[in-house]
Amino acid sequence: MQKSVYLDYAATTPVDPEVLSAMVPCFSENFGNASSGHLKGRKARLAVEEARQKVAGLINASPEEIIFTSGGTEADNLAISGIAGASRELGNHIITTSIEHHAVFETCHHLQKQGFEVTFVPVEPDGIVDAEHIRQAVTGKTILISVIYANNEIGTIQPVKEIAGIARKYGVSSHSDAVQAIGREHIDVKEMGVDMLSLTAHKFYGPKGIGALYIRNGLQLTPILYGGGQEKGLRPGTESVPLIVGFGKAAEIAMRDMEAEIKRLKLLRDKLINGIMQSIEGVLLNGDMAKRLPNNVSVCFEGLAFKKTASGDMPGGYLYLNRELDKHGICASAGSACSGTEATPSHVLIALGRNPEQAQGALRLSLGKWTTEADIDNTLEELPKIVERLRTGNTIRL
Ligand SMILES: *Cc1c(COP(=O)(O)O)cnc(C)c1O
Repeated sequence: MQKSVYLDYAATTPVDPEVLSAMVPCFSENFGNASSGHLKGRKARLAVEEARQKVAGLINASPEEIIFTSGGTEADNLAISGIAGASRELGNHIITTSIEHHAVFETCHHLQKQGFEVTFVPVEPDGIVDAEHIRQAVTGKTILISVIYANNEIGTIQPVKEIAGIARKYGVSSHSDAVQAIGREHIDVKEMGVDMLSLTAHKFYGPKGIGALYIRNGLQLTPILYGGGQEKGLRPGTESVPLIVGFGKAAEIAMRDMEAEIKRLKLLRDKLINGIMQSIEGVLLNGDMAKRLPNNVSVCFEGLAFKKTASGDMPGGYLYLNRELDKHGICASAGSACSGTEATPSHVLIALGRNPEQAQGALRLSLGKWTTEADIDNTLEELPKIVERLRTGNTIRL
């Protein structure tokens, strides 16, 4: 049987066996409700607080600054809507970028309908926002600056420290979606000076359905959910002890292994990028080469765009590219997993200045803990043949 090659770690990662082992007892012996005062409750509370320390430790926060959520999407929603709700008297203007994850984008769009004004600052052709452009967007009404730490499609790393400094100078709150960067970059919220930071476990070998928002001590947010007083009233609902414990374990492992893993991934990533560039013509690398996640490869192949036909537009070439890769056992993605089945070109690639045709030929390969050199070799063997076939076949055969 054909061995499968998984190169979609930016969409999600398998749970580390060490993480799974740590979680299992929380489904059985340690099943208590962390808010119960008896023995079972106290044991569960202890497990939750130990995990909170580990998650805090990974980003150099204090444990009381970590609010567990159901994932990155909820953390982004809580950060942005939470500040919007708490700052109504101060202003109604939010600054973000043109390359945010949908969790930030759609929250901002929702707030626009509620009367907030949002500035989407464009990025440079290298996929990085100019902090000066953020500064120029600040007005007397600005309440929040939210900038993604590392982009999920193109892997570019933004100058969040500089932007947080600008926010602080103007008395504006700052937030960063660091979901893709956790475990792949050294993140220190104190050093960065950011007020809020979103995390999720399933992008770095923890379970799905658990994440966190770092909220700097003293910052006031309104909740987006109402119920019991869990998580300081900011995220009511019975804590999922197994998921939280898994998240904590993933954070502990990331702290231990990150240094060596970053080095290993960079070598594999560069081999893959160079291999693609050398073996295929008409390839554009998306995003800066240096300020880039160690596991991200994002390219556009020219000549793979959809064609107009009598029955309407055919979907983008990336759908075919991914289908062909899938047939060869290679799991990849066009850009973000969330837009994987849509035929509309990615807003991130358009923001970089790619034209819609180029954006239709997008491919993201994201590497991780179990990616081997053989996986890279295998991909470099198959990909040129597939691109060649699709180019000559005009890509519109269904
Ligand atoms: C995956 C992802 C999210 C969403 O996280 P979930 O835990 O899946 O809700 C948010 N932002 C970025 C940058 C992501 O990559």
